[in-house]
Amino acid sequence: PPFPSLSASSAGMVTTDWMQNLTTVTIVLYTRQKGLDARRISTSIDGNVFHTRIYSDDWLRCFDYQIRLAEDVHPFCKPTVSLTTGKVELGLQKKQIALHWQKLGDLEEVIQGFQPLGQAPPFFRRSVLTRKSRVNHNVFLCTLTFPTGQNFHVPVGWHVQLKLCLEDGTEVIRSYTPITSTLSSCETTDCPSISESPTALHFLIKIYANGPFTSALDRLSEGSSSIEVSNPIGNFVGSQLEGKNLVAIAAGTGITPLIRVAIDVLRNNRRVSLLFFNRTQDDIIWKEEFRELELKYPNKFKLWHVLSEPDDEWPGLRGRISKSVLATTILSEEYHDVGSNFACVCGPSDFTLETLRLLDSAGYTQETVHAFSG
Ligand code: NAD
Repeated sequence: PPFPSLSASSAGMVTTDWMQNLTTVTIVLYTRQKGLDARRISTSIDGNVFHTRIYSDDWLRCFDYQIRLAEDVHPFCKPTVSLTTGKVELGLQKKQIALHWQKLGDLEEVIQGFQPLGQAPPFFRRSVLTRKSRVNHNVFLCTLTFPTGQNFHVPVGWHVQLKLCLEDGTEVIRSYTPITSTLSSCETTDCPSISESPTALHFLIKIYANGPFTSALDRLSEGSSSIEVSNPIGNFVGSQLEGKNLVAIAAGTGITPLIRVAIDVLRNNRRVSLLFFNRTQDDIIWKEEFRELELKYPNKFKLWHVLSEPDDEWPGLRGRISKSVLATTILSEEYHDVGSNFACVCGPSDFTLETLRLLDSAGYTQETVHAFSG
């Protein structure tokens, strides 16, 4: 090929090649990673810049490749993956049919092998804010839609970073977990949803008056293209939950990472017990939607609301996370089967630490608890 293949001198290295016919150009990456599938291949075509990140079978390492293509392509990439050899073929469609490409392009970024996800350089894709609708007095449901040519999958329990450029030119980056756009779409936990075209991600975002990111977001209108979205990031291992019931303990917006996890468990015919802490009734995100979920799954979904600043009429549980509130809910006799449960916790850091301490005393171990943090 006209650009040099990288040498494959040791295990974990990736070699590359390319080929063309009248209509397509195919980039070939020999990853030697068994168990890869198309979900682990994220691609982006932005003008002539083609970027791909390939996640290892356990999602914990990745390989990045970016090239400025020599000629124009349509914003469309079809990845084909060999499960057994890890050979990845990325098919691009030539804009000018029958044009013979003299070279593939100029490499902008390629690290020779898979590297730990935490060491990989961030990659952000452009998006358009296509929906910003109020969920309660300070939480918005925001939909970010991607131009064609963007292809990626956010695993359950994983998040992305959103980058926003402020008026003074500084960039602010915050992490958010995409959610399904409604709770009634329990049929799928795919993010972006495979049934949605064009590709979009949905987020529940709480506006903090003195938060630089969210107050800037508050000023954005639908149609804004100032938010960029990173490749998926995370360390949640979905297989930990296999065959287990979910005990979900969330405070405030800490509910967001637990939404897809809970839907995934319900879809797999197992039970979800959700203990949801908020200040007031008005702060409860998706209160009605969760109520509908309880009605839809009366034997599989159990929800307790706990308010720390309730009004006098509040008939439910009161206070913050404590041994006694756990004793009357997820640690009560009916739900306290630690062996068949997996617990997920998310909320303010003090809340998470205290919950982990209490779960530890109740017999949960590192293998049966995941805390979302950061
Ligand atoms: P909030 O301040 O409105 O509090 C909600 C509830 O959390 C309170 O009613 C109380 O029960 C509990 N709580 C708050 N502070 C506590 C403390 N110090 N000790 C014990 N309990 C406490 O919540 P919010 O403004 O919605 O904030 C949610 C938090 O969740 C944020 O800190 C956010 O960073 C975190 N979060 C983390 C992730 C993640 O790590 N993936 C995702 C979403 C949200």
